[in-house]
Amino acid sequence: MKEKAKQAGVIPGDRLAVSEEFLPGQHTYDDSGLIRALVAGSVQKDAKNMEISVKPAVEPEVIKVDDWVTGQVEGAQANSANVHIYFHNGKPTYKDFSGMLTLRGLSGGGRGMRRTTPVKPGDIVRCRVFSLVNGIIHLTIDEPDMGVVAALCGNCGKPLLRGNPTRAKCDECGNVEERKLARDFGTTPIEP
Ligand SMILES: [Zn+2]
Repeated sequence: MKEKAKQAGVIPGDRLAVSEEFLPGQHTYDDSGLIRALVAGSVQKDAKNMEISVKPAVEPEVIKVDDWVTGQVEGAQANSANVHIYFHNGKPTYKDFSGMLTLRGLSGGGRGMRRTTPVKPGDIVRCRVFSLVNGIIHLTIDEPDMGVVAALCGNCGKPLLRGNPTRAKCDECGNVEERKLARDFGTTPIEP
């Protein structure tokens, strides 16, 4: 059997085959001898197992605890920042996710010596998802690989380079800025 999995677009209820030809696979149902599509997607025929199924057109993308995301800081307050998420586990996402980055209690800022500016609006940050309570994507950068991966100089707008673990510097104008930098900050290409 050389039949290649044919990709035909179907919508729910479309007739795919008769049950003498194929067994109903994923996302299909047997409607009195007719196999129909349960979801919109593309038809997949498994000739070996005589099974027909539908691959959903849109796989729901779900962000889970312990995933990592990369996005841009849109607004920062004293204890949190809003992050527009552009990458999910290193892959682009077009889902318009936003997360809330917790800045409180970042390690390295002991009592009385808190880090004043871990992130700034416009920064690109890599964050860990640590909670999904109340439907909010809660993010943290409190681990070495997480933090700012790219930022621009607040003075002249050129990309900042690594200074030391908590400071980024601008070679162009000499400006030094405080940040919680990811371990690979300052390397290119930037890994989302
Ligand atoms: Zn500068």
